[in-house]
Amino acid sequence: MSKCIYCRQDKDPAEFTLEHVFPQFMGGAYAPDCFKTRSVCKPCNSNLGLFVDAGFEKNWFVSNRLRMNARAFFDPNSPVGLPLVCMGKSDFVPPQLQECEVCESWLGPFGEQVYWVRPHDERLFWYTGGNPRTTKTTESRAYFLFSERSEKNPLISLLSFRDAFEGRRVRKIMCTEVGDILTGIGFKAPDELDLLRVKYFNEACRISKTKHIQLAMYVPFDFRFLVKLGLGVAYSLFGSKALQTAYAEELYKALWYRNENGQPQINGSSSIMHGNNPLFTKVVGEANAVTIMIIPTPEGVAVNLNLGESLNWVIKCASYENLTEDDIHPLREGRVLLLYRQLQRAFDLALPEYIAHKCGNQPHPELTGISAKLALHRDYFKNL
Ligand SMILES: [Zn+2]
Repeated sequence: MSKCIYCRQDKDPAEFTLEHVFPQFMGGAYAPDCFKTRSVCKPCNSNLGLFVDAGFEKNWFVSNRLRMNARAFFDPNSPVGLPLVCMGKSDFVPPQLQECEVCESWLGPFGEQVYWVRPHDERLFWYTGGNPRTTKTTESRAYFLFSERSEKNPLISLLSFRDAFEGRRVRKIMCTEVGDILTGIGFKAPDELDLLRVKYFNEACRISKTKHIQLAMYVPFDFRFLVKLGLGVAYSLFGSKALQTAYAEELYKALWYRNENGQPQINGSSSIMHGNNPLFTKVVGEANAVTIMIIPTPEGVAVNLNLGESLNWVIKCASYENLTEDDIHPLREGRVLLLYRQLQRAFDLALPEYIAHKCGNQPHPELTGISAKLALHRDYFKNL
């Protein structure tokens, strides 16, 4: 029998599965192997994946920040589809919209409009794209409209439309008249309901000059995620003894939060809730990457998570109770992980090495190469 690091239950070895401590949506598959573990049971992997990891990933700010990271790597010499950006819930009411459905508005790379009529899940109301499990199994419908700017480079629009809603059961319908080139990229011939809605969306978009959008926000969306990340990092660095401390108890209290257990005493904060300092986030994060810093502080070991220089969180992942000098020594200078999901790469640096790079005193050759490559096409869309 072994113990799952999240639910702390003893289970049969067959009940364990691979867990990425840094989830795959942020490039965790490319992180050093010590941040992948088989000490997590299948139910935790699946339930915490849906209610904790996805609750963070699908938050509007996080989801669009990660989409912008992907867009930054666009190279016009080898065009690929670009992720649509979620605008929120539209106030359009297309024909036969059910009470249990919402009409979500998305934008393509040139301002193309996409209206996705999908099931609504009250429990996961703030998830962009709704419940990821439901949208895999239940068919929904999305309506696409080209914009005037699509003519700038129709191939990019088409590739983006082709890749939109991948892995979900979405019936894609084109509202703009473009001939029959679209069947090859996943569009369906409209049925009776679609014809009504195509007419509706074309008219609604023509008539209404202002469009109203509603953003759903759940303020503590990041709380359990941050705590789970803290536990995972503490275990990856120091093993199970780091999970048997008074502070780890507080992390567990937060991960499995129940009102009656009182407020967990966690040291941590997020920049979405508390505002941020531009200089601070500039130093702690790399543009278009996910940056994780692991730093020993007088209070304990801190993890700083930064998305694309703009969103920032910090949490104390472990106290020094149960840790020895040998445990702390490799971290003494601080450690920085940079995850580039689009490049399928990660960098693992000592903090001084990273700061010297950021301040320009000693540029890191490969990181400089990535920045230079990104700068080449930075204004591609603006200049078209
Ligand atoms: Zn478990």
